[in-house]
Amino acid sequence: MRPGEHSKARREPQVGAAAALLAVCLSGAVLAAPADEPPFDATADTVFDIIRSSDETQFLCLSDAGRAVRQMWDKRIDGESDLDVFLFTAHFRDGPPIDIILNPEFGTPEAARTEAERYTHALGQLLPVFRQGLRQLGIHKGNKSFHGGAGKIFLYSETVDLRISQDHLEESLLHEAVHASLDAPYGDSQAWRDAQAADGAFVTRYAASSPEREDLAESALFAYGLLRHPGRIPPVDSAVIARQIPARIAVIAEILNAAPDLPAPPPPPADCR
Ligand SMILES: [Zn+2]
Repeated sequence: MRPGEHSKARREPQVGAAAALLAVCLSGAVLAAPADEPPFDATADTVFDIIRSSDETQFLCLSDAGRAVRQMWDKRIDGESDLDVFLFTAHFRDGPPIDIILNPEFGTPEAARTEAERYTHALGQLLPVFRQGLRQLGIHKGNKSFHGGAGKIFLYSETVDLRISQDHLEESLLHEAVHASLDAPYGDSQAWRDAQAADGAFVTRYAASSPEREDLAESALFAYGLLRHPGRIPPVDSAVIARQIPARIAVIAEILNAAPDLPAPPPPPADCR
């Protein structure tokens, strides 16, 4: 059993106790040296339910824009092609709309809409800071791993089935949304580089294997859990994370606290549902 693997029953510590321990850890009072070996494999494998399906969502409605030609990156063919996609637009109370495009392989507008609706609630659960740069969510069939780049995320529906069965779609979306929204402004910033150097350790093996591409997205989910939902990561794991990447947690706290200056969202079209 890896560190951080707990049965469902053990996952819910007392919020007060966890918050108190976190405060002590973050204050540095009980800080020990970080472990050389990252304590977790990857955010995709963690069992912590940091964003719950019952959490509030800012999603409003999904409008149907019919068919349109869009470029879709597809790992299955290791390339990008112009496709006559099914196009929907998801509207939110607190941020700009996000296009959801579906590979024509979904077949019918009804099937495409049903698929698109699997993502809207979870997208609206992401803080605006994570959603601010995301303009397009693309969905393919298949079981490839997810991909997030500047402004765009691509998902594969069989992998989504797995993530939903693990109650982990929201956490995976947060990871990819960091790639879409935060890598460009922060991933290569001096503050982040300095924090990486100060910590001298990584929270996941995936982050350690790709410090320039994956460390911010990997660290962000754990930091978000500690900072915004401290009761949802068990105290022992919270202490491990706080000891491993304290400087990165502080940088991510600043990113979370700086509310993005977003234009007022446009009113959804009348047929939005
Ligand atoms: Zn990633």
